[in-house]
Amino acid sequence: MPVRPQHILHVALAVPVRRCFDYLPGEKFSRQVIKPGTRLQVPFGNTQTRTGILLNVSDKSEVKAERLKPITSIIDEQPILSVADLRLKQWASDYYHHPIGETLFSTLPVLLRQGKSLKRKVDYLWQLSDAGKTIDFDALRRAPNQQAFLQLLRENPEGIPATQPENRKFYSAIKALQEKGLIKRSEYTPVENNSIAMPSPVNLNADQLSAANSIKSHLGKYQQFLLNGVTGSGKTEVYIEIIKQLVSEGKQALVLVPEIGLTPQLINRIKDNVHAKLVVLHSALSDNERLQAWLQARDGIASVVLGTRSAIWTPLKNPGVLIVDEEHDLSYKQQDGFRYSARDVAIMRGKMDETPVVLGSATPSMETLQNVRIGKFKNLRLPSRAGNAVIPSIQIINMRGKRMRDAFSQTLLDAISNEISNKRQVLLFLNRRGFSPLVMCHSCAWVAKCKRCDINMTYHKHNKKLCCHHCGSQSSLPQTCPQCNDDELLQLGHGTERLTETLAEIFPDARIIRIDRDSTRRKDTMQKMLNSINDGQADILIGTQMLAKGHHFPNLSLVGIIDADQGLFSTDFRASERMGQLFIQVSGRAGRVDRQGTVLIQTHYPDHPLLQSLVTQGYNEFAEMLLTERQQTRLPPFSYMALLRAEDYRAEATQYFLQKARAMMLAQTADIEIFGPIPAPMEKRAGRLRYQLLLQCSDRGLLRRQLGPWSRQLETLPSGRKVRWSLDVDPQDML
Ligand code: ADP
Ligand code: ZN
Ligand code: ZN
Repeated sequence: MPVRPQHILHVALAVPVRRCFDYLPGEKFSRQVIKPGTRLQVPFGNTQTRTGILLNVSDKSEVKAERLKPITSIIDEQPILSVADLRLKQWASDYYHHPIGETLFSTLPVLLRQGKSLKRKVDYLWQLSDAGKTIDFDALRRAPNQQAFLQLLRENPEGIPATQPENRKFYSAIKALQEKGLIKRSEYTPVENNSIAMPSPVNLNADQLSAANSIKSHLGKYQQFLLNGVTGSGKTEVYIEIIKQLVSEGKQALVLVPEIGLTPQLINRIKDNVHAKLVVLHSALSDNERLQAWLQARDGIASVVLGTRSAIWTPLKNPGVLIVDEEHDLSYKQQDGFRYSARDVAIMRGKMDETPVVLGSATPSMETLQNVRIGKFKNLRLPSRAGNAVIPSIQIINMRGKRMRDAFSQTLLDAISNEISNKRQVLLFLNRRGFSPLVMCHSCAWVAKCKRCDINMTYHKHNKKLCCHHCGSQSSLPQTCPQCNDDELLQLGHGTERLTETLAEIFPDARIIRIDRDSTRRKDTMQKMLNSINDGQADILIGTQMLAKGHHFPNLSLVGIIDADQGLFSTDFRASERMGQLFIQVSGRAGRVDRQGTVLIQTHYPDHPLLQSLVTQGYNEFAEMLLTERQQTRLPPFSYMALLRAEDYRAEATQYFLQKARAMMLAQTADIEIFGPIPAPMEKRAGRLRYQLLLQCSDRGLLRRQLGPWSRQLETLPSGRKVRWSLDVDPQDML
């Protein structure tokens, strides 16, 4: 319906306020049809123009009519976002209490945010026209190139891609043939894999089949599934089975993974097995490539869309399934700006789009397990490894009072020695990069701390620098103690660098590869390292959690967890959940093919009940124990949280703001528990002092309803303008 001059256009702009902005169509655009989801240029302030997105049209505004300005121009002929996309983003903005404009814009490809026009690059095929099929070759004998190209097309009746590099030498011939009407151009969709010889498809085992069938029977409907399969149980094959089915029905699949660089195997397997257009949204894409991928998804050209967290916002023409692999992974939660959980958004998106949502994990989160318990999610179990592989055996090494060589007990060293002399690979896991996490003066006990944060500096030997793992600050390792001038500075504790050095001394002939964020900084190094591991060019792998995710190392038979004690004692109530997940994931790298692997865990607390339950009963029992604990202490998923964080160089300013915020919430309701203001676990970060207010409530709806008016009011507080603050709904990280 065309807009009339008196209509009000409600427009979202990328500004940090929790409302939209009203404009008039103006003389120029009244009587035009402008649909929600269309980008507009609008005046902003006295001199600026900005790009906005039309949310809706009504005949009411809270702003007086004479103060409303007309829009400047309309960017898009057609809305760039569908009604469904808008609805999802509106929901997310409401649920996370994040400004609608920032929600809409931060989830769009950069070029669209900038107001650039959108044009999908089209792939063309050259084919013979009817005239071209019948023309007598002799007629072209003076134009041998035209003849040759025509001949090529006769040999390839399905057509020749216009972008094929071999076409270059036919450039003018093609032009001439087209002018003569002998050939024609038509649009087509190239697929990644055109080879007829597919890799031999695996035969799904009974558990995989029943999981796949269960999901297939819900296609076209909303249902959440937990694909709860031990590491190596073949979850990927189940995804592939579902995707194949959907692709054959002309539907699309959206697959989320924690990190593209860490999951090359999953991507390749989908590529090799699904004969359809697949786009991968990875960080190396240029802005234009990203926009093209987005458009191909939106227009239904791409059948499979694969990406990390932000891919959840990719529009789909024919959504068929949403898959979230490793759903427990922390990377699905955005920790700054628009703090959403891609997993939780996926669940809502499935509901709105009426598609099944499949969450896959060997170590599901407590939230997901609780949803299984209450019957909201269907639990699909893959209890054993696919093929001949078996689950590794896990043993605890008690380190109490034992003589250690650096971080290694003799038991672990003997086990390593045994494996490598049998030409098998060993993985050692320590979630701490660098050489030593603590530098201390032997004489006066001075400790190297970050000047801007509340934590110790880590010493990195390769560049002889002290480095803060929170703000990135670096400084040179001092020659002498800055406090007492003594020259004996101790490097205490262990990081992956030190482990590598020690092991190289103990096993001088072993080939050691270290994988952490420092060693894989350069592009492609990760892939190269993985290749050399799989080619058998490494004996010992030392790594952080980067090594824990999704890899298959067929010749790996021993995993050593260097320090289990880190995860057992923490103030964060989620620390033990994380520890369990990490250990099981790392352990899962062992013995993937036909030999049972071994996992050795070094600890000073061999009898710790959580560790015991993890080792003797496995993740599911361990998780049951944790859930019971959470229930007794009324922690999530048995209650819901929101965290208001504030930071500033002055502690008083943040505390004052949070006190005000607290008082405002108390005035609103007595049903929400409020803790704080208290210092954040890391009180100082990058120079700023950080405080927080924790809100907790057992009723999710109630919390949500109260947060809306509260967050809008916070925006109007003068004390809130003086500090940096943010609201985090369902916070995952209390740091
Ligand atoms: P997960 O993602 O559950 O850890 P994957 O899907 O990566 O497990 O599968 C683990 C390994 O088992 C892969 O090498 C895969 O090719 C193999 N595999 C999966 N399903 C089968 C099957 N039905 N028969 C034989 N091998 C299988
Ligand atoms: Zn000193
Ligand atoms: Zn720092």
